[in-house]
Amino acid sequence: MKIAEVKTIRFMYMSQTVRDTDGHGHPGPEHEAVQTLLKIETDEGIEGYSFGGNPQVVANTIKPALIGEDPLYRERIWQDLKERQRLNLGTLSDGILCAVDLALWDLAGRCVNLPVHKLLGAFRDKVPAYASTMCGDDMKGGLDTPEAYAEFALACKERGYPAFKLHTWQPPIPWAPDPKKDVAACKAVRDAVGEEMDLMLDPFHYYSREESLYIGKALEELGYYWIEEPMDEHSISSYVWLTEQLSIPVVGPETAEGKMYTRAEWIRAHASDISRGGVRDLGGITPLVKTAHLCESFGVRMEVHGGGPGNLHVLCAMGFPGQYYERGLLHPFIDYDAVPPWLNELPDPMDDQGFVHVSEKPGLGLDINFDYIDANLVD
Ligand SMILES: [Mg+2]
Repeated sequence: MKIAEVKTIRFMYMSQTVRDTDGHGHPGPEHEAVQTLLKIETDEGIEGYSFGGNPQVVANTIKPALIGEDPLYRERIWQDLKERQRLNLGTLSDGILCAVDLALWDLAGRCVNLPVHKLLGAFRDKVPAYASTMCGDDMKGGLDTPEAYAEFALACKERGYPAFKLHTWQPPIPWAPDPKKDVAACKAVRDAVGEEMDLMLDPFHYYSREESLYIGKALEELGYYWIEEPMDEHSISSYVWLTEQLSIPVVGPETAEGKMYTRAEWIRAHASDISRGGVRDLGGITPLVKTAHLCESFGVRMEVHGGGPGNLHVLCAMGFPGQYYERGLLHPFIDYDAVPPWLNELPDPMDDQGFVHVSEKPGLGLDINFDYIDANLVD
């Protein structure tokens, strides 16, 4: 079997999410937006799909690299693309590697009629989810005050989530960041939901060592479950300093580039208690599985970053599990359980006990609404 075609299909949809100048998503007025579907075709008629991928990079770099390759040689293809990143990181991002790798795993699953988690070696079919909020905002009734977070945490608890993670306020909110206000929000949430619910914080990512320690100590008193990325992850020494002084688990690295190699160095340096990585941070399912095995070998837990089918399938194939699936990002104004128009069903449906169930359909299990995509094509 050989790869015969690699293409991107761009289509319009109506979005209710806008990005601020720092790139954080917030609810906003409905507007037209473009989504991209990556499609890999073979000479035997089997196809693989994933969402994402820059059309120009796919056409100029990915397609020439993939045409003629056996799509089941995922490791070789991933290693090849990783080496090509060296002088091309500006265009050939880990996000693109992720889109390609996901489509190849999808193709492999469709080839043998198995869902990806069973292709990897399944461990479980459902994972408890935490409600992961959008960043704080200044919208009335949104996530504008500690009380607003508390109210939203209660709503999430009612929906069935066993855990709740706050993303608090960041620039460009004019008065943010503010460690005291972060702690106030964490306290309001703890007071509202009681002792049972696991709570986590992912605050501003450029706090000083002292500010991070202040927040971490406060979270210890509030019985929080972990603290995530309060400082620049390029400073491993700062994380060693923080982790030594806190009993609350420090989770990371998340956004630091360097794939599984960076995770290995953090483990060796004792820079965090729980490691972190997701398909988009690392460049696909292939490196996320490597990272999971790395962490298992050191007896270090790994919490998977971000949602989506790639992360969910890996979570269902991890024998030394990451505990939670990150579901979101959530906001009081957004109905996360609404199915996007380009799909026929949610890729991460959650029951009222707070378990997200993995698809048993072949590959990633995406039930794509091709009629919608065909009716909304861009050029
Ligand atoms: Mg994070």
